Amino acid sequence: MSKINWNFKNTYFNLPKSFKEDINPVPVKNPDLVMFNESLASELNLNYSTIDKKELSKIFSGNVLPNGSNSIAQAYAGHQFGHFTMLGDGRAVLIGEHTTQTNKKYDIQFKGSGKTAFSRNGDGRAALGPMLREYIISEAMNGLNIPTTRSLAVIKTGEDIHRETALQGAILTRVASSHIRVGTFQYIAARQKEDELKILLDYTIDRHYPEIKDSKNQALNLLSLLIERQCDLVVNWMRVGFIHGVMNTDNMTISGETIDYGPCAFMDTYDPKTVFSSIDQMGRYAYCNQPIITKWNLARFAECLVPLIDKNQDKAVKIATKTINSFEKKYEEKWMKMMRDKLGLFGSDHKDKFLILDLLTWMHEKKADYTNTFCNLMDLAPKKDNLFDDNGFVNWKKRWVDRLSKNNSSSKKYLEIMKKNNPLVIPRNHKVEEALEAAEKNDLKPITQLLEILKDPYTQKEDTPNYQIPSRSDEKYQTFCGT
Ligand code: AMP
Ligand code: MG
Repeated sequence: MSKINWNFKNTYFNLPKSFKEDINPVPVKNPDLVMFNESLASELNLNYSTIDKKELSKIFSGNVLPNGSNSIAQAYAGHQFGHFTMLGDGRAVLIGEHTTQTNKKYDIQFKGSGKTAFSRNGDGRAALGPMLREYIISEAMNGLNIPTTRSLAVIKTGEDIHRETALQGAILTRVASSHIRVGTFQYIAARQKEDELKILLDYTIDRHYPEIKDSKNQALNLLSLLIERQCDLVVNWMRVGFIHGVMNTDNMTISGETIDYGPCAFMDTYDPKTVFSSIDQMGRYAYCNQPIITKWNLARFAECLVPLIDKNQDKAVKIATKTINSFEKKYEEKWMKMMRDKLGLFGSDHKDKFLILDLLTWMHEKKADYTNTFCNLMDLAPKKDNLFDDNGFVNWKKRWVDRLSKNNSSSKKYLEIMKKNNPLVIPRNHKVEEALEAAEKNDLKPITQLLEILKDPYTQKEDTPNYQIPSRSDEKYQTFCGT
């Protein structure tokens, strides 16, 4: 047991050699703690209050490895923009699986920790800006009640890394319920060793879905469960206007947590075709394509499981295809429920879909801010906006009010549902940039304040209006993968 109270019970380390490389983080010159997530540390039952900053810096850089750590880089593959590639942790190591007092298990991973067998031509390192960005957005997602990997710490390494210019090196401590990806299955499946695939299946079920352990067709049940989880996840993304930006199969977890905060960003102006990522030229991962890509990724997952679904390949493919094709109906139902919640509509009315689509069309035509339109409906918009005096909106609102009257419940109940589903605050791009710029110059005040407001984005606070103003729509925001 180390000072900070890691309670490592490492299981992935015990899987066959082909699943990973045993490797330690490469020590860094001058580790300096920039961010430390005390509330997450408490959730993990870590004992941090008596450890000084210098010691924390050593711990979260990997310069000292705790007792009980079996550091590994995990092997995985993935379809990146549709093309299959062998990948793996090229700039991350899993130092151990921490187990809490309530027996919850978390992967503790250092991202930016140096070269591994999977680094290919990369340097294994990460820059401060992108690591802080991941910290902000992943914690924002958690505040929005969306399943996600978390961020426990960021340290500066004291070493420059070289991209187009020299940048400050950094390491992020990522906490995840596991790092098993669709790409992990793809990697093992590509090796065509059924015993290894079965090991991965058993491991995954043990770790994430013990409820299907004794079921007759575990592989098929796992597929169904993942369809359910990923469908819920993408509906949540659509709810808050989150655009992941790089939905490659290696960036889709089997736990159902959002992972990989490279080029993601939140949409201000409602436009279904919104893309922020500089490399997503075809808009493959645009806002409106996210459900389609989720299904596509799940189909790649299903392909891996075919040998375990049925010995008869034709039969297995048939069953898998049918299961995958359940996605659209599921998505439609879950999306409708989510939109009804956003609008405070109880039960269902055959005209609901028109009501919802008409609002979205109006938002698109008038370039309305997605988040603030719902805030306006809750009377919680940051300031008076003449856009909402528009006839189209006023008429739509009459229909909405009429539909609300069919709710058959006390008048304010609808507002409660709306408040739980419509964030007042999202990590607005200009606010994120402002916080990152300051942090790079050692001013942590903006990032600390931003994180504070993002912790509870559904509650009106004194400071809330300052974070509700959209970015200027004439400035096209672009994101980069951060490698
Ligand atoms: P990502 O874009 O973070 O999903 O990474 C895709 C793949 O590239 C993964 O295999 C990463 O480990 C690898 N990778 C990204 N950046 C680096 C880097 N600086 N050095 C080595 N490998 C990297
Ligand atoms: Mg990734």
